[in-house]
Amino acid sequence: MSDYKLGLDYAQQQDQNDALAGYRNQFHIPKNEQGNELIYMTGNSLGLQPKTTKNYINQELEDWANLGVEGHTEAKNPWLGYHEFLTKSMANVVGAKSIEVVVMNTLTANLHFMMVSFYKPTKTRYKILIESNAFPSDKYAVESQLRHHGFDDKEGVVLWKPRKGEELLRTKDLETILKDQGDEIALIMIGGVNYYTGQFFDLKKITELGHKHGCKVGFDCAHGAGNVELNLHDSGADFAVWCTYKYLNSGPGSLAGCFVHERHAHDNSLNRFTGWWSHNKQTRFNMRDEFDVIPGAEGWQLSNPPILSMAAIKASLDMIEEVGIKKLAKKSKKLTGYFEFLLKQLGEDTIRIITPEKPNERGCQLSIQVKNADKSLHNKLTENGVISDWREPDVIRCAPVPLYNSFEDVYNLVERLKRILN
Ligand SMILES: *Cc1c(COP(=O)(O)O)cnc(C)c1O
Repeated sequence: MSDYKLGLDYAQQQDQNDALAGYRNQFHIPKNEQGNELIYMTGNSLGLQPKTTKNYINQELEDWANLGVEGHTEAKNPWLGYHEFLTKSMANVVGAKSIEVVVMNTLTANLHFMMVSFYKPTKTRYKILIESNAFPSDKYAVESQLRHHGFDDKEGVVLWKPRKGEELLRTKDLETILKDQGDEIALIMIGGVNYYTGQFFDLKKITELGHKHGCKVGFDCAHGAGNVELNLHDSGADFAVWCTYKYLNSGPGSLAGCFVHERHAHDNSLNRFTGWWSHNKQTRFNMRDEFDVIPGAEGWQLSNPPILSMAAIKASLDMIEEVGIKKLAKKSKKLTGYFEFLLKQLGEDTIRIITPEKPNERGCQLSIQVKNADKSLHNKLTENGVISDWREPDVIRCAPVPLYNSFEDVYNLVERLKRILN
């Protein structure tokens, strides 16, 4: 990827040659007060709105207005099985089989429901291993599970940490932890792509290591779903969870995804929390039958889901399904590689990219440490029409999203950064 070139011409030419460039027009791009498009680099926090989303939601509003309760069966997209419209395309996004995937609840809720089934501590094996810079919600969820089972939430957490002076995690160090105390660890729960550094872990390798030591393994793929090729089925992970409002463009606080590996699909002995939506669809409305769980990930649902939110997910997934996650990931590598190339021109004395250099160890996000910077740098970027994300003490996260960010966006971003730093 060393054939990147400087200059605006090059960026514009790349956009012209980009088969996915047209998708940008299918999104609402936020504008400033003068009506100029902002440089939106925070699809890792909240993805932009597809222009089709409104129609998808309006369809359900209309069916509700016209049909009332009959919409459950008579709506154009009958609500009773609405989540099924999302399963295949969501399974393709995360590299799973349909029986392994369901859209339900929200992310942290799903993480808890998965731990109900896959965190089964004993007196001697009860610890949970997570990465030391895990997303706070995941950390809190893990700690509360320990307390819920009567364990100490400090002593029970095993942290996978970077070495002194480093930011990234090494699989070698995970191996060492497992060799030393693998038989005390009940569950390994890692963010598949770390939200802070953008490091994309080798999910398969981590799963193999965990299973070798008798641990269950789950991933929070909030920063992976729609961003990288997760290949969840092949990873062998026991479970995974993710949200859909980041790289899956489904709107603020929208529903989340959940993966349960096929080998658990028919295991009725797994403990779980259930509701009527986990019950056999054929007899659900008899209301009196003995509980009869649906095989696969659907058997973890509790409630009839919010259709309006699911309609927004359908709008986005229909578009992503049309492109395919492979093509998205391919453009992503090129776009982020270009971003890295331009940033490096600013010089090692000015900025340091903490995200891994290898394209297979990251998604589109680059986490950039700026020497002697504080939040005022981020504020200046905002004044200059760049929406980026600041994490204390000194990191800017920028995510050029292949579906709607252009090479020209990336060029302009780095130009503005350069201007501010001078
Ligand atoms: C975004 C994100 C969350 C947010 O959780 P919600 O339950 O959706 O509020 C949790 N964990 C990770 C790793 C995230 O990236």
